[in-house]
Amino acid sequence: MPSTDTPSFQLQAFPVTQLQQNAMVFWSTSSMKGVLIDPGGEIDRLLDEIKKLEVTITEIWLTHGHIDHAGGAAEARRRLGVKITGPHRDDQFLLDELKPGTYGIAEAESFTPDRYLDEGDNVELDGAKFQIFHCPGHSPGSVVFYQQEMAFAFVGDVLFSGSIGRTDLPGGNHQQLLDSITQKLWPLGEDIQFMPGHGPGSTFSQERKTNGFVADSVLAGK
Ligand SMILES: [Zn+2]
Ligand SMILES: [Zn+2]
Repeated sequence: MPSTDTPSFQLQAFPVTQLQQNAMVFWSTSSMKGVLIDPGGEIDRLLDEIKKLEVTITEIWLTHGHIDHAGGAAEARRRLGVKITGPHRDDQFLLDELKPGTYGIAEAESFTPDRYLDEGDNVELDGAKFQIFHCPGHSPGSVVFYQQEMAFAFVGDVLFSGSIGRTDLPGGNHQQLLDSITQKLWPLGEDIQFMPGHGPGSTFSQERKTNGFVADSVLAGK
């Protein structure tokens, strides 16, 4: 953020597990407080990285309940002494099923979040308010975190650079995912940057031009 009288924020992604999921640390450079987003696994390594960044984690935020995103959350919660916020309660059945060793994620463990998120909720870090959108389709309880002033969103596995989340997993629904993307994300504007749960970031405008699943031209042809 360019302004001098508001805190600046930084984001760093750490791909974890064999699924190369983007665990992320998002922090304020003025307070050095941050949130840990989707700590799917490799908690030792993530805590090491957080120490190196000299960030104090105040909360864990989860986009959805799949193991590569939520597998390490219970351990991270214990070791950091913070609360877990998200995902939507419709993903609790996925959190209930988390078991050690699945996909090689040794620390995977079932848990209940301290707070479920729902459409219209807000979460905040050091004055940066994120608006919550419930975006089912990839999983029933997927949520997107949207920060208006930064024109930025954490979208989990709803949308990727060049692709969309798979919909063949329990509770997945292809049409519902398309609706989540076109009815909840696109109305936020074109110049929105996003970070997905896997791979590089992109912008909504880029995806509306070139994404083989949800480009305007693709959907118009349906
Ligand atoms: Zn997922
Ligand atoms: Zn994922």
